[in-house]
Amino acid sequence: MENKLRLDIVTPYGLVLSEDVDEVTAAGTEGEFGVLPGHVPFITTLKVGMLTLRKDNKTEYVFVNSGYAEVSPDQVVILADSAERAEDIDVERALAAKKRAEERIAQAEKYDFGRAIAALERATIRIHLAEKKTPR
Ligand code: ATP
Repeated sequence: MENKLRLDIVTPYGLVLSEDVDEVTAAGTEGEFGVLPGHVPFITTLKVGMLTLRKDNKTEYVFVNSGYAEVSPDQVVILADSAERAEDIDVERALAAKKRAEERIAQAEKYDFGRAIAALERATIRIHLAEKKTPR
């Protein structure tokens, strides 16, 4: 489609999103980047963070848990460990994950500290993103 980008977000759990959009912004490990139709091709790694898509003057937010982005002039493919649209985030689950991670960080001798820090980061970003949900 002219002047649109096909955005596909794929995880081991399934296809999270496949839509024609106007602009994508994502959290690359080298910094945030934005993509408009016609962008030069590139591949980058992604950190845990927020992906923003703009579509017909509406902005939507997606949680992305690490992975890769492959950008071509008419497509952005995100391969992530997990991902959810803001409106699909289960806040109770994220709050429970945050509490569990905090308890594990406090007992660093019993648990894998790095794993607990990563879990805390995922939960904190999910909680923050859930507040940004766009009405369907
Ligand atoms: P938890 O400890 O709650 O499982 P996690 O960060 O370890 O959280 P992931 O490994 O990132 O979970 O994801 C596993 C699956 O569960 C994925 O399909 C992901 O989209 C989904 N998921 C995880 N947390 C949430 C959430 N708060 N709301 C909706 N889906 C979630």
